[in-house]
Amino acid sequence: MEPVPTPFTRSEASLQLLLFVDKRPSSDEKIRQIRNRFTELRADYDFDLQIIDVGDQPHLAEHFKLIATPTLIKVYPEPRQTLAGSDLSAQIENWWPRWRQASEEYDASAQSRVGNLRALPTPSLNDSLSRSDELIQLSDDVFRLKQEKEELQEQLDFKDRLISMLAHDLRNPLTAVSIALETLAMGNEKQETYGESRLTPAIITQLLKHARTQAKAIDRMITDLLQAARSSDGRLQLQPQKMDLGELCLAVVDSLKEQFQAKAQTVVTDIPIDLPIVYADLERVRQVLINLLDNAIKYTPAAGKVEVAILHRTAQKVQISISDTGPGIPGDNQEQIFDDSFRLERDAEKAGYGIGLAVCQRIVRAHYGQIWVNSELGHGSCFHFTLPVYRP
Ligand code: ADP
Repeated sequence: MEPVPTPFTRSEASLQLLLFVDKRPSSDEKIRQIRNRFTELRADYDFDLQIIDVGDQPHLAEHFKLIATPTLIKVYPEPRQTLAGSDLSAQIENWWPRWRQASEEYDASAQSRVGNLRALPTPSLNDSLSRSDELIQLSDDVFRLKQEKEELQEQLDFKDRLISMLAHDLRNPLTAVSIALETLAMGNEKQETYGESRLTPAIITQLLKHARTQAKAIDRMITDLLQAARSSDGRLQLQPQKMDLGELCLAVVDSLKEQFQAKAQTVVTDIPIDLPIVYADLERVRQVLINLLDNAIKYTPAAGKVEVAILHRTAQKVQISISDTGPGIPGDNQEQIFDDSFRLERDAEKAGYGIGLAVCQRIVRAHYGQIWVNSELGHGSCFHFTLPVYRP
């Protein structure tokens, strides 16, 4: 913080005053009058006066809770007293004799306490102001550190919760894969030993399919965990590049075509050919698209419809919208679903940890974009997010 200006020579006077002023031309005359008056008063009685421009020292104005300028504050002798208002000069005239008397009494009592010496001088204005500066700075630091600590604690708690949930939930699909593999292995052994196995080709196919589905579920959980580990530190590292968003959307939709087919869902894309180039982290944006499309597929019943559309909203941003014909999201929960670990009770039976949307939000926000949902219960959901356009 800047040092407090010292317009008058510092003395060790026990009467210490602060005059807060501003640079408005309309205040010039009033301030000049007050200064002149103090110069006259100084001829008779020594005191400390600091003139402080609130524009240069806003933190001091805040510290002394000023509501107007000019304002005069008597800092010593205590108690502190504040004078302000259009009749400031008159107030000074009114209070001056009492301030002077209090200051003389203070001096006299200080002298009687320590003989004839002023061994304990009143702290100077500069000292008390720089102490105020330090205090303000320190309380700012304490506040910031407290907030950082809380955020870190939250992230640690989130990771702890996630790891224990995951360890617990991984057991089910792992057990299912093991059983399927064991059964297949036993069938195989019998085949080799006795030349026959009770496993028909249809059962073998079913076991393999089951094992594959469960292995995919495990993979998905681990991906979730890795994502959360990477993105919950609040300092998402982006590697933005110029990218063709339309091409990425089509590639992501294509990569999910088996999932759409498995639920006989229709997927429609509406991507304008003249979209501007977007400046974003390709892998992170891919993750957002995958998470939103995964949800659309998961929560939309078989034979439903999912649509991916891009709109060049303004010169600065494009909007990506993913809508589905699923159950929709109640109005009260439309913000909460983006919180870490939040899931709608009705979806408790479905696989998931409630982190996919939280991850999407962190990624989109790291790009200075927005993400939100429009939905009406029973009429599907439409998730939107925005990304910045590349500007050379
Ligand atoms: P997860 O799907 O793993 O539970 P998300 O963070 O992706 O976690 O979603 C949070 C919750 O929001 C989900 O549990 C679900 O209740 C709701 N939700 C998300 N997407 C949809 C959607 N497309 N349709 C209906 N509900 C949804």
